[in-house]
Amino acid sequence: MAADMKGPLRPTLYRFKLGNFEMMNMLDSFAQRDGLAAVHGGGSAPGAVEELAKMNNIDPSKFEHPFVPALVNTGNEIILFDTGNGTLSKDVEALKGRVPEGHLVERLAQAGYKPEDIDIVCFTHCHPDHIGANFTNGKPTFPNARYVISAAEFDYWKKGENISDARKPTKAQFDRIMAPLADKCTFIKPGNDVVTGIRAVDCSGHSAGLTGYHIESEGKRVLMFADSFLHYVCGIQHPEWTIGFDDNQQKAVENRKRLLAMTSSEKLMVMGFHMPFPSIGWIDKRADGRHQWVAASYQMNM
Ligand SMILES: [Zn+2]
Repeated sequence: MAADMKGPLRPTLYRFKLGNFEMMNMLDSFAQRDGLAAVHGGGSAPGAVEELAKMNNIDPSKFEHPFVPALVNTGNEIILFDTGNGTLSKDVEALKGRVPEGHLVERLAQAGYKPEDIDIVCFTHCHPDHIGANFTNGKPTFPNARYVISAAEFDYWKKGENISDARKPTKAQFDRIMAPLADKCTFIKPGNDVVTGIRAVDCSGHSAGLTGYHIESEGKRVLMFADSFLHYVCGIQHPEWTIGFDDNQQKAVENRKRLLAMTSSEKLMVMGFHMPFPSIGWIDKRADGRHQWVAASYQMNM
């Protein structure tokens, strides 16, 4: 008799304490795509991406792109960071088959949260995979939430000047599912606090106002970043390689280098929206001067 295969299973939720805060990462969705070198190795020497992939035990031709929104419960507020892909793949003809279906609301339910529980939705930027679940069936998905977004990021997409052809669909999604929330938005600048313990950090480059968040409670700290790093091997070991998804490629390279130096010298824990789930770890500086993603093991369980 043949033994039944049940198919792959993978972890989708990770919750841990940071001081008095409770933190949670959720695997909204993931995409598996061809062309590691083509997407993540702009300007690399021929064969360099393939060699790097082999050294790091990953497929040199394909890659996985995870989408990992986070939730922080400060004890006073429940704050969601980005909303993932939502129903983009159903609602937007041009995105069918190009982005995965988001599972954020399902993940929240598995972790004990209803959409009404979310007090604040805080955004890193306005690219579609970070705002995709803002609405469900035409209504705000998180009915009791107010929103926090970088003023520079919101204004850039709102004005819509000098937007590349490749980003015109991003502008269309902004107009459809971000701009209508303007009345309930608080617009922030780098250095501003979202709430006590959560401070906006300038990560601009990938987008006009890309924002990371420095989160601190009882002396425990983490830097949450989004698309500063799009691949845990390429972007971190070779921050100088350019990426077509970066709206300002040179500025994005500078941002990567700055974050690598800061997080490695401070031994600052990081969590990253596109890092392999559960998407928390450290960035170490190696003897050869390059940096490396070191995934967390049990540190945050203790
Ligand atoms: Zn992204």
